[in-house]
Amino acid sequence: MQTAIQDESTVLAPEEAALPVIRIEAVHKYYDLGETKVHALRGIDLEIKPGEFVAIMGSSGSGKSTLMNMLGCLDKPSTGRYLLDGIDVSQLDKKSLANIRNRKLGFVFQGFNLLARTTALENVELPTLYARLGKDERLERARKALEMVGLGERVEHFTSQLSGGQQQRVAIARALVNRPSILLADEPTGNLDSRTSVEIMQIFQDLNQQGLTIVLVTHEPDIAHFAKRIVVFRDGKIRKDEWVERQSQAAEVLLNMPATDD
Ligand code: ADP
Ligand code: MG
Repeated sequence: MQTAIQDESTVLAPEEAALPVIRIEAVHKYYDLGETKVHALRGIDLEIKPGEFVAIMGSSGSGKSTLMNMLGCLDKPSTGRYLLDGIDVSQLDKKSLANIRNRKLGFVFQGFNLLARTTALENVELPTLYARLGKDERLERARKALEMVGLGERVEHFTSQLSGGQQQRVAIARALVNRPSILLADEPTGNLDSRTSVEIMQIFQDLNQQGLTIVLVTHEPDIAHFAKRIVVFRDGKIRKDEWVERQSQAAEVLLNMPATDD
């Protein structure tokens, strides 16, 4: 989980180590619908440093997913710049973008987007097909990723045989298998009950502790407080950007929640 910045030099000055992994400068995003234009992002500036855990909040339509799509290199700003690990991604062609996406970024969505009649292991192995690895190495990585999310015992289960929480964990393992430096999650707990949601947050906090940078979209304040920083969007602009004073600890919260069968 190293950044390109760290790859390029062996000895790091502290200020270098603290260079942002994500830097958004004066970004606007328009969706062109023929007759009308939707102005989805209206001048966004945002910096995220390595090891941060940021929750993005805001009501429906405020631009959260538009931002996430951009952070994930799935879409480009209409104007302004997006620097990922210091690289201006708006200058890159499709192939380089896909390459950056596979190497640096992991995605988790509200709907788990897993293949149904396929095992957990096969689902997690899928993104490694783009990496130039042998079959054994790919399976080994997929197994490790499933172990990291506590599903080491269920690698051969079909995803349709798993609970919602387990499916989301498979999706997280799939996002991690190429060892990204940033995890992007858009409403990952939106379809889960409250205990399962906190269990997912525990996984996120563990990963963040190990150095993974996380950007999480949620509309639930309780979930946002598992992050270290909360950024609030309104009408395509950032209205608030604050450090969380007392970050909720998922492990503690779980102690006081009734267990489920999951
Ligand atoms: P959020 O995720 O905060 O609910 P979105 O980023 O999805 O908000 O949407 C921001 C605005 O952009 C909304 O007005 C939405 O209708 C519009 N929008 C989002 N995606 C598209 C699209 N692909 N085409 C046209 N308009 C879009
Ligand atoms: Mg959205």
